[in-house]
Amino acid sequence: MKQETKCIEAGYQPKNGESRMIPIIQSTTFKYDTSEDMGKLFDLQASGYFYTRLQNPTNDMVAAKICALEGGTAAMLTSSGQAANFFAIFNIATAGDHVVASTSIYGGTFNLFNVTMRKMGVDFTFVDPDCTDEELEAAFRPNTKAVFGETIANPALTVFDIERFAKAAHAHGVPLVVDNTFATPINCRPIEWGADIVTHSTTKYMDGHDATVGGAIVDGGKFDWMANAEKFPGLTTPDESYHGITYAEKFGKEGAFITKATAQLMRDFGSIPSPMNAYILNLGLESLAVRMKRHCENAQCVAEYLEKNPEVAWVEYPGLPSNRYYERAKKYMPDGTCGVISFGVRGGRKAAEVFMKKLKLIIIATHVADAHTMVLHPASSTHRQLTDEELIACGVRPDMVRLSCGIENVEDIIEDLDQALRK
Ligand SMILES: *Cc1c(COP(=O)(O)O)cnc(C)c1O
Repeated sequence: MKQETKCIEAGYQPKNGESRMIPIIQSTTFKYDTSEDMGKLFDLQASGYFYTRLQNPTNDMVAAKICALEGGTAAMLTSSGQAANFFAIFNIATAGDHVVASTSIYGGTFNLFNVTMRKMGVDFTFVDPDCTDEELEAAFRPNTKAVFGETIANPALTVFDIERFAKAAHAHGVPLVVDNTFATPINCRPIEWGADIVTHSTTKYMDGHDATVGGAIVDGGKFDWMANAEKFPGLTTPDESYHGITYAEKFGKEGAFITKATAQLMRDFGSIPSPMNAYILNLGLESLAVRMKRHCENAQCVAEYLEKNPEVAWVEYPGLPSNRYYERAKKYMPDGTCGVISFGVRGGRKAAEVFMKKLKLIIIATHVADAHTMVLHPASSTHRQLTDEELIACGVRPDMVRLSCGIENVEDIIEDLDQALRK
């Protein structure tokens, strides 16, 4: 199946007389005839459902669709993108371990790594995604367990060189984890470029309608844990908390990572989505291919309009030939990048604030990647405690407006921007 078809058909094929839409199995528990039947599930000897914190059929159908879209071998849903990135890293890096991560990542992920996971004993080295080979090489340590980056970073809109980082990770015997939230598998499939694990905040384009917070993890199924057995004891030695199972032996390259994340991390942290939320996410996924095309077309038009507008100081959008990531974006995302643009209003912080106030159609929201066009002025909202100097130091310019282009008619979006910029 092509991507557009997978959006509709993958993950669930009803049998004769069954519901066309995925069923919402809103049940915490599942019934068995004998204790022996259930025991086999507890021992991971048979697959099936017994308690929704571990697995739920509705959630699994939606995970299977995302897995097919990314070209993976196994996948799981989580209750948020934060939980997905935490699980993806903590599944292989624990106290005493180390991870190499791109500096250009979502603020919430940066905080998770730099503050919370450090408290748990996991160390991080952050590297500029455009660093030299020597700088990248110097970031690795003997206890490095993974490399992490975002296909298109939120909000910096840097484009990650997946192939280059995959090569570096593999040379050190560790997997590359890529957060593919902004590109979505419609525009980029990191596994095809060498990524091993793909994560998502499904809250963004996948849901696409401001309706549900969620996350997903997909395993590409190619990383050989056994070939690097000493680095990944959690996967390559018996799990005493799970009846002595060795995940990499029992479930192979294709299934070990997700089985371990489900059996250990979901069991212990419990970050599951509700089946109802998975159902709503699935509705979003059905139109993902159509919406991404429109988001990108709209953003391209808007970025070109902004670049020509004298009231605009600068525009950052990887679809613009003037952008420093244009060529790299063309390589990894030939059909388009995403709907998010950042730009500066001439006149700095004050002018940006006035411009935002004058918008009529476009809403102000701390969100992106949604059907509605929305803007955020980081300097007066998420980063308002910082001075102009501090803002610049953390890569947020005082006049920066983050604009997420929705799927409205682009003429209406431009008309609203135009009247507000004129004021
Ligand atoms: C929003 C976002 C996250 C966090 O996801 P939540 O669903 O809000 O927990 C992680 N990564 C990226 C790239 C994001 O945009």
